[in-house]
Amino acid sequence: MCECVIPLARILSPSKMEERKYLFTLHEFMSDLLSSRTKLGRYPVRGSHDFATIAAILDEGFFCHVGFVVNGQPYVIPTGFGRDGHTLYIHGSAASRMLNEAGKGIALSVTVTLVDGLVLARSAFHSSVNYRSVVILGAAEPVPAAGKVRALKTISDHIIPGRWESLRPVKPQELDQTAVLRMEIVEASAKVRTGPPVDEEEDYGLPIWAGTLDFAPLSATPKPDPRLASGLPVPEHAQRYRRPKK
Ligand SMILES: Cc1cc2nc3c(=O)[nH]c(=O)nc-3n(C[C@H](O)[C@H](O)[C@H](O)COP(=O)(O)OP(=O)(O)OC[C@H]3O[C@@H](n4cnc5c(N)ncnc54)[C@H](O)[C@@H]3O)c2cc1C
Repeated sequence: MCECVIPLARILSPSKMEERKYLFTLHEFMSDLLSSRTKLGRYPVRGSHDFATIAAILDEGFFCHVGFVVNGQPYVIPTGFGRDGHTLYIHGSAASRMLNEAGKGIALSVTVTLVDGLVLARSAFHSSVNYRSVVILGAAEPVPAAGKVRALKTISDHIIPGRWESLRPVKPQELDQTAVLRMEIVEASAKVRTGPPVDEEEDYGLPIWAGTLDFAPLSATPKPDPRLASGLPVPEHAQRYRRPKK
């Protein structure tokens, strides 16, 4: 990987800026999203700040929760998203409070959670969940008009790969009515739990069933619109809808 000088003030939060030198390698930038704020406190062994791990979780998910504070009141709002490299995109009505507030550059916390199964231990204390989750800290900014179509395509491709190409072109007034925000993924953490229960040694002999309840991967059944024009087959992207899994 090459060594690059990147204008840090554009991509790092002030807290992360303090922790970093002004020169760093592109490799370090791409693989290390650790900061004092994203360092895991509990079960750090389950954590990762590796960009590839974080990107894989983001790519399997298609909605996130955006946390922000307005007038001292925290809000956590679910919304769809798309990812292109280190950039996360969210979109919605230009009248949306979430998008208007988040677009002001205020502090945001964005989470994506995938639940893979339930962990049935021999005690309530050790019962758990197998999951993969990501927390991203940072700020967002509005995508300028010239970049909106590309950003919307990114979101569409992220949620339903192949759908965008089959749609009619976006109208100018639809673009005007749509706000799109971008957030750079530079400060983030992943946390992953996998595997069987971890019980107290003396509990393994108890006559209590233990193991995991693994959830099946998300699948979808196409249900034609009652107003569908006649004779249209279900397209491939709907017929074979799956979330990417790494
Ligand atoms: C899976 C999923 C995907 C979504 N994808 C998108 C998307 O891509 N773009 C988009 O714009 N919106 C999306 N939404 C809807 C989104 O959650 C918001 O309702 C919407 O963006 C309006 O936000 P707002 O801040 O303007 O809401 P406001 O109407 O200003 O919120 C006012 C209050 O309404 C309540 N509220 C708002 N939204 C919700 C909610 N979803 N559930 C329960 N209470 C709520 C809260 O109490 C909130 O404080 C999605 C929702 C879900 C569940």
